[in-house]
Amino acid sequence: MAILVTGGAGYIGSHMTHALAEREEEVIVLDNLSTGFDWAVAPAATLLVGDVGDADLLDMIFATHDIEAVVHFAGSIVVPESVENPLKYYANNTVNSRTLIAAAVKAGVKHFIFSSTAAVYGIPPHSPADEETPTAPINPYGRSKLMTEWMLQDVAAAHPLSYVALRYFNVAGADPKGRTGQSTPAATHLIKVACQTVLGQREKMFIFGDDYDTPDGTCIRDYIHVSDLIAAHLDALDYLRKGGESAVFNCGYGHGHSVREVIDMVKKVSGVDFPVEMAPRRAGDPPELVAAAEKIRTALGWRPQFDNLEEIVASALAWERHLQRRNLTSDKVAEEVA
Ligand code: UDP
Repeated sequence: MAILVTGGAGYIGSHMTHALAEREEEVIVLDNLSTGFDWAVAPAATLLVGDVGDADLLDMIFATHDIEAVVHFAGSIVVPESVENPLKYYANNTVNSRTLIAAAVKAGVKHFIFSSTAAVYGIPPHSPADEETPTAPINPYGRSKLMTEWMLQDVAAAHPLSYVALRYFNVAGADPKGRTGQSTPAATHLIKVACQTVLGQREKMFIFGDDYDTPDGTCIRDYIHVSDLIAAHLDALDYLRKGGESAVFNCGYGHGHSVREVIDMVKKVSGVDFPVEMAPRRAGDPPELVAAAEKIRTALGWRPQFDNLEEIVASALAWERHLQRRNLTSDKVAEEVA
């Protein structure tokens, strides 16, 4: 039986295709390549280019392949963009998920793993936030994901489908084997932006707000290495296959770093003292978001291997350098050909 990975050409999804291929699972990827790259998909996987919201295409995929589980990464992920363009988020993250879930139920798919987000907590009343912390998202991104969690909860109660929703905290870093990483040039995430600034792709970077009620005034996040996040997905798949009950898990390490600490680490690891300027707060940013991360260890036996900011930053930087080399090489080739 096969596993359908939506968004498998994207940052996190592409890591999942490599991990599944290493386990010799049959992998079908559905990705519209809007932000993903075909080269990022594991060579052993079958890539189908199309939309998760295309019900006819989904019916065709489920009719052609014997899909046991869906791992649903496809979606939009930029919090400030969700504030400016909420309907894009409700379409890509909520409406399209509904279409996918409906097709999966119709086809009798057994298991569903969903990429949810810590943004469902909004500004948690206490930190770290555990899975029982009331959900109260403060931006359309968080709301668009939470609605999909609710759909899954209701659907799993009504149909023979079990699911795990993984609430990602701040995912960063790249594949230690150098096969894939965060490759979207327009990425807005902190570690990626800092690495681009190290390499001179940006003249400077900004800290969005240093007047938060945190020790150094900048926001605190729980940065999790993408490889540990992928391990959580594999553990979730094993759990569901063994008959585990539908559940929601936080994916984070249980401790956070401030924006300043992250930037200092990028400067230390790179040895480059790049310019950083203060800027106003960004819309939709909670001051502190840290995972209470016990439930996933207990229920899934998850054991993170990369809980180290220096290592996360080093792998992100190595990937950024790799991307730059590739671009330089292709520019050179283009020049030579011209
Ligand atoms: N941030 C920043 N400068 C940047 C990008 C991000 O100061 O160029 C801050 C952002 O305001 C937030 C934290 O870094 O407090 C993490 O933001 P990111 O976009 O990486 O992830 P999010 O927490 O929004 O999912």
